Amino acid sequence: MSSRQGLTCHEVVELVTDYLEGTLEDEDRRRVEEHLAICDGCTRYLEQMRETIRLTGRLTEEQIPEEQKQALLEAFRSWAAR
Ligand SMILES: [Zn+2]
Repeated sequence: MSSRQGLTCHEVVELVTDYLEGTLEDEDRRRVEEHLAICDGCTRYLEQMRETIRLTGRLTEEQIPEEQKQALLEAFRSWAAR
């Protein structure tokens, strides 16, 4: 894999809070959006995060437990394997 390729799901999950907060560099934001365009798993994850923000009014790291991240990444892998 070269660095020119798109982000992995794991990288998108790591970046998504910054993405939603609007603190990403333009280049990173573009790469996240490119990934979202082709990945249902991350699109769902982003929607879930948006819903969390809508309900709580803010987003903190503790709202994304590591366990939940891992479960989502497992789900992404099984979707990708179909
Ligand atoms: Zn993805």
